[in-house]
Amino acid sequence: MDFLRETRLVKAAMAPFKKSVVRDVMPVLPKVICDERRQVYYTVGDFLGKGGFAACYKVVDADGHTFASKIVNKQLLKNKNEAQKLSQEIRIHKCLQHEHVVKMYFAFEDANNVYMMLELCSRRSLMELQKRRHAITEPEARYFIRQTVLACDYLHRLNIIHRDIKLGNLFLTENMVLKVGDFGLATNITEGLHDKKWVCGTPNYIAPEVLNKRLHSVKVDIWAIGCVMYVLLVGTPPFETDNLDETYRRICNNKYKIPFELSIDAIDLIKAMLSAMPTERPDTMTILKSPFMNGFTPARLPTSCLTTKPTFA
Ligand code: ADP
Repeated sequence: MDFLRETRLVKAAMAPFKKSVVRDVMPVLPKVICDERRQVYYTVGDFLGKGGFAACYKVVDADGHTFASKIVNKQLLKNKNEAQKLSQEIRIHKCLQHEHVVKMYFAFEDANNVYMMLELCSRRSLMELQKRRHAITEPEARYFIRQTVLACDYLHRLNIIHRDIKLGNLFLTENMVLKVGDFGLATNITEGLHDKKWVCGTPNYIAPEVLNKRLHSVKVDIWAIGCVMYVLLVGTPPFETDNLDETYRRICNNKYKIPFELSIDAIDLIKAMLSAMPTERPDTMTILKSPFMNGFTPARLPTSCLTTKPTFA
């Protein structure tokens, strides 16, 4: 199947979907992969990680240019819905160009796999950072939240909702610049009203209007950024319990506690982003102008902060 050409012909109307359950996604992979159309060969290097759908490897071309190649085994695309999802991910992601969005350069396929050629984020994601550090300092959180909000500001202006903002999708480059990645659940709201029944994302980050099957908007990303900010400053997600039904009940009842140790400005911003009513959540510009976001923000972070609390002069 010529996946990229075939799926371009499929009407882009998105069927309701859930993110794929984790299964064996490891692609059949030779040591060298070939983009036949461009006549470029890539040497496959280190394994970078795998998600529900794709595995990611570092690859290098003959000129020494390095990429992260997100690789999807075509066996997983036999289902038309999965093929449409991947087609939608590529179509949306390929058009994006922003300092804080992982760049997708191009995509190609061979007999076995589809390859998405991405900007390499060698410092992994905020998920690994948070696992090691637990709660981080407010200046660090401000640094990461600011870059996430700038990326979402760009996406929302293009009428794109990411719909899966979470620590594991906030990648870090070699120089500790944050890049929003994984557009597997993203949608363009100008392409038609998305499905009311759609439920997505990581449970703790699902907005109440999604759980309640109401129409959702860019404000689901703001809710998720509120969850990310909470996890970064508190060390645990706001609605986490060991029972999924109870977690969902708490999300719907807006039941969470913010520890007193946080600054008033941080508490105010988290509360605003976690407003039960989407219309009461701030938009990206309002977040950027909030008192919390105007506190001291380091221009860059040392890589040592992946494991250790930094000291700010
Ligand atoms: P899925 O859509 O299947 O969830 P992801 O986009 O989350 O796949 O990618 C799977 C894993 O590959 C990630 O968890 C991460 O470890 C790694 N990865 C993805 N994109 C990059 C990148 N640009 N740079 C480095 N590693 C990446």
